[in-house]
Amino acid sequence: MTQPVPLFIDGKFCDSSTSEWMEVTNPANNQVIAQLPCATEAELQRAIQSASSAFANWSETPVSERARVMLRYQHLLKKHHEELAYVVSKETGKTQVDAKGDVWRGIEVVEQAANIASLTMGETVENVASDIDCYSLVQPLGVCCGITPFNFPAMIPLWMFPLAIACGNTFVLKPSEQVPLTAVRLAELFKEAGAPDGVLQVVHGGKEQVDYLLSDSNIRAISFVGSVPVARYIYQKGTQNLKRVQAFAGAKNHMVIMPDANPDQVVDNLVGASVGAAGQRCMAISVAVFVGDSNQWISKLAKAMKPVKPGAWNDKKAAFGPLISQAARERVLGLIEQGKQEGANCLVDGSDCEVGDYPDGNWVGPTLFSGVDTKMAIYQQEIFGPVLICIEVDSLDEAIELVNDNPYGNGTSIFTSSGAAARKYQHRVQVGQVGINVPIPVPLPFFSFTGWRGSFYGDLHAYGKQAVRFYTETKTVTAKWFDDPVSSGINMSIHLK
Ligand code: NAD
Repeated sequence: MTQPVPLFIDGKFCDSSTSEWMEVTNPANNQVIAQLPCATEAELQRAIQSASSAFANWSETPVSERARVMLRYQHLLKKHHEELAYVVSKETGKTQVDAKGDVWRGIEVVEQAANIASLTMGETVENVASDIDCYSLVQPLGVCCGITPFNFPAMIPLWMFPLAIACGNTFVLKPSEQVPLTAVRLAELFKEAGAPDGVLQVVHGGKEQVDYLLSDSNIRAISFVGSVPVARYIYQKGTQNLKRVQAFAGAKNHMVIMPDANPDQVVDNLVGASVGAAGQRCMAISVAVFVGDSNQWISKLAKAMKPVKPGAWNDKKAAFGPLISQAARERVLGLIEQGKQEGANCLVDGSDCEVGDYPDGNWVGPTLFSGVDTKMAIYQQEIFGPVLICIEVDSLDEAIELVNDNPYGNGTSIFTSSGAAARKYQHRVQVGQVGINVPIPVPLPFFSFTGWRGSFYGDLHAYGKQAVRFYTETKTVTAKWFDDPVSSGINMSIHLK
């Protein structure tokens, strides 16, 4: 039997005593690389208990000491950047460049967490009434929990636990059962950075384990990233159990191409943004909206897309890797077939894709459809594969209407040389991340990462100040200060928001 993936409970790595196991595979050859335990109820309970007990000390630890753990963690993540990227590649199939990017985006969030004192400053107003001041305190919640998807095994857990923990919370992470190894390495390095025992726990499993976490009353807040149906479920169940929930969901991201755009720039960016990372990015462009005469560039796009080749994680020339699982490949192939059946023109067909030394990998090549309408399954569903569909419209207004009518609002971009068109688009489009003459930008830790409409359930987004607000409570203090020695200095009334 290949190695079991350990749980990380109370600062120690331990083997699970479960009888239920899943296989972790390398998507390039489907060889089993590890066995994943579905944690038992007793193990989940132990993890939550440990996090609850650790909260008492950790929340009272001076903010600069908490920040110093993050500084040391940032240093260790940088030192082990290559090695972490290797683990990411092995379990996701990502190319080394992509895997390094995944780790790097996470490191940037840890840098932000090291700045936690200035992110958790309260506010003060003097003289709200005579001799009375009013100020706010920002305090941690307690035990927080993260449930993460397969496609960014470093970045997405690092969106969550460093900020939550820097705020003074403790954390239970349940990574994707398809990619648990990166999370284990992240926990090892966190321990090495000096995080006290119990501050971070890593537990494994699937729906059953998530359900347990959603129902445990010690968990105050849940951060989730994953597919739409699961995001809705987590939001509904978590809030029903009176937890704070932020649930980041799926996407259908449109790039609008105006006829005054630079065609080479459009084609280059469309290829990279649609098939990069095998299209398994929540920020991938999956719909190209050609306005007016810009549709003449579709044939140029097909020509550029055809020679782009996937390959294994250790192939430096590979443009992207395999899909995460055989099931994901079957699903994407099914949608490509459905697109053909429903009458779209398949200009580039990646269904029959082989990669030399890896005959058993989950390969799908770049695929391009034109003549797509909004009723087709390839438009309606998030494909999450290297598939780009083209829709043609007559005007910018029509493009905006199309994008706003789509149920999702994660990201979008516009390519144009007109400032007025770009301004109109950024102002009117109902989508969280907007790129102008860039494909959808990767979110930066000091700005909010903002899905809109069906791409997000909750009210506070990830990153920056909003993430800190998600993981903290604000307490407003109104204080009257006496110089009368009998009343011993201060009289406060405290209102909780
Ligand atoms: P997924 O929803 O299948 O799994 C995500 C997590 O939920 C995993 O930890 C999994 O164990 C758990 N889970 C799965 N089914 C569950 C169920 N029925 N009940 C409770 N928990 C369950 O998602 P995935 O396939 O791992 O990731 C891909 C999806 O994530 C895509 O839809 C993508 O768009 C989305 N995503 C969104 C963002 C964003 O920021 N909006 C970022 C990355 C990925």
